[in-house]
Amino acid sequence: EAPAAMRAVLEVPGVTGQEVLRLPCDAANAKDAVTGLVRRIITTGDPPVTSAFNVLDLGKVAELFAAWRRGLKGVPPYYAVKCNSNPALLGALAALGSRFDCASPAEMDAVLALGVTADRIIYANPCKPESHIAYAASVGVGVATFDSVEELRKIKRFHPGCKLLLRLKVPDAGDAARWDLGTKYGALEDEVAPLLLAAQSAGLAVWGVAFHVGSEVSRVGVYDAAVQAARTAFAAAAALGMPRMHVLDIGGGFAAASFKDACAVINAALARHFGDMPDVEVIGEPGRYFAETPFALAARVCASTGDDGFYGTLCCVQHGYVPRPVPVAAACHSAADQRGGETRHLSTVFGPTCDSLDVVVQGYPLPELGIGDWLVFHDVGAYTTELSCNFNGFSAAEM
Ligand code: PLP
Repeated sequence: EAPAAMRAVLEVPGVTGQEVLRLPCDAANAKDAVTGLVRRIITTGDPPVTSAFNVLDLGKVAELFAAWRRGLKGVPPYYAVKCNSNPALLGALAALGSRFDCASPAEMDAVLALGVTADRIIYANPCKPESHIAYAASVGVGVATFDSVEELRKIKRFHPGCKLLLRLKVPDAGDAARWDLGTKYGALEDEVAPLLLAAQSAGLAVWGVAFHVGSEVSRVGVYDAAVQAARTAFAAAAALGMPRMHVLDIGGGFAAASFKDACAVINAALARHFGDMPDVEVIGEPGRYFAETPFALAARVCASTGDDGFYGTLCCVQHGYVPRPVPVAAACHSAADQRGGETRHLSTVFGPTCDSLDVVVQGYPLPELGIGDWLVFHDVGAYTTELSCNFNGFSAAEM
């Protein structure tokens, strides 16, 4: 449990900078407490908010970290920075002892700037520009993934001392998760031996294998097939007479809601397929698991639109996020969220750009809202601000 003083971080862009606030709440009522915090801020005007802002619940991050440790004992998480590179989140994770999965020099810099040492970073991008590989070498990031002969050639030239993990395509994973990463990445079963041989003849060290079952996994049983495929790759390396591999990277895909079920499958699969190799170091690369639920967005009603939307933080609606906005009234209005008995209308909430596709929800029951009222969206931390753009000159809520 995080100390109460760490419960929430609030950043109101351009007004207050970043503030750490104490929220008297526990895990069970954290979302209500965050909504209450937004209500308090907009009704007191302290700090004076005029545009969308995010609230990061650091206590939630600490809870998730503790749950990871309990669920996947001895499996260090390498947080996937691509999911949300918010500095307060990265700082909290670093303080909790997380390691990091970086896919580019910019992500490495963000993590190194926190004082995290390069040996706690994995360069988990199977397709890397040459200049990025050279950068990884220059800052001492020494473990990377690959899934092609071309990648081996580049690594041989620009980072020959790099330790490698062969990224596998997970069999039959297409429908297991919301985002199927297997269409782009991963060696097929019959490519494994040739790639291992190619690495060996290039004099490159293959430390182990990696996989990713796809982001936001719904069919958690897929982890079993993935661990089994990894074990087959370990056997292939042994059959080729290669030095013993000793790292298994189980990737990401985890969602907080199904984490326990995923852990049960993974722990059983590790016992079944790697029970005879207790020295194998198992690592993970969770992104969404740590970033999604700790963030809430407060967006202001500024016309018949909100001031954040489809091209901003709420770009996650394009990827299946189902928003359930909580209305919060501004002081100057009859309290929309206190009109409990009042009629709710099936409403459309638009984002601020001139595009009619900029729709956040449709047919959602809301009380009548006025300019200056607010909507709070919970669980908006995964692939949101990170994917947003400045279309029409509007930017996502900062922090
Ligand atoms: N590792 C790699 C290589 C990825 O590409 C991703 C997401 O794209 C992640 C980890 C994080 O995945 P997730 O957010 O589903 O945990």
